[in-house]
Amino acid sequence: MKPADNPNWFAHSPLKRVNSEYSQDDFIEEKLVDPSSQLVPLWRGDPLVADGAAAFLSAAARSEFGARAPVVLLGVKDGVTFFGIDASAALTPEVAPFADIGVYTPIREAAAQVPRDDLAVIGHARWLFEWHRGHPHCAKCGEATKMVNGGAKRICPSCEAEHFPRTDPVAIVLAVHEDACLLGRGPQFPEGMLSALAGFIEASETPEEAAKRELFEEAGVTLTDIRYQFSQPWPFPNSMMMGFIADTEDRTLNLDTNEIVEARWIDRANIVAALAGDPSDFFIPPKFTIARQLLERWSKG
Ligand SMILES: [Zn+2]
Repeated sequence: MKPADNPNWFAHSPLKRVNSEYSQDDFIEEKLVDPSSQLVPLWRGDPLVADGAAAFLSAAARSEFGARAPVVLLGVKDGVTFFGIDASAALTPEVAPFADIGVYTPIREAAAQVPRDDLAVIGHARWLFEWHRGHPHCAKCGEATKMVNGGAKRICPSCEAEHFPRTDPVAIVLAVHEDACLLGRGPQFPEGMLSALAGFIEASETPEEAAKRELFEEAGVTLTDIRYQFSQPWPFPNSMMMGFIADTEDRTLNLDTNEIVEARWIDRANIVAALAGDPSDFFIPPKFTIARQLLERWSKG
């Protein structure tokens, strides 16, 4: 799939992944002291934003973060190596390094501010830090594990097991019937926001099967023609959103109110108006979400 076919934010990092070629630790140590290398700082998963862009720092700035600040290798562009650095591990708790040059901005807010290339780089770093933070021990023997190869994996010093960053796949579905689509709101969503329904893909389940099961479980609708559209890396914390548009047999709803507090069919004309920002009694997710991109695609027929 060409980038032009995938409109999603967080996708298409401008950096070339180099894990397989260069991720040996001596390469990383060399590049971490190369002043041309760039650091992307994140404070508790949030990027440093300055003048409408992500702040990139010279590798010389690393000492300001303390020797124990985790660093992950993100990739290379035009001969420059990029690393993420976890500013949360700063020497002085509660004081974020380089907060004087910008603002550590909640990533959902930053998504609306920074260039998309920056967001893809930030999302990659956040994904890796979140996974490493949540997986400090060996799943086989329980020993504390060590991050190696710039975050490409963790190894266990006791049983030598290797553990690789995990991706949790999610099926997200815009269900449609004739000229209307089904949007709903989970209990965690803001009041008034309606979105496409979604759920984690379970063990040994295809994405299409998950789409069909989730829509029936949550809304009582039966999907008949399930069409894959595109995917989105979603660093909250480690998901891969797989987007579908699917037809339904009819518009009968039977909501699981533990999962969906509100759902309704909305005509295409009202979706077009919502995409244009017209006020209504509901609103749709922001542009950096795959749900919004599914609506954009469907609205154009
Ligand atoms: Zn182990």
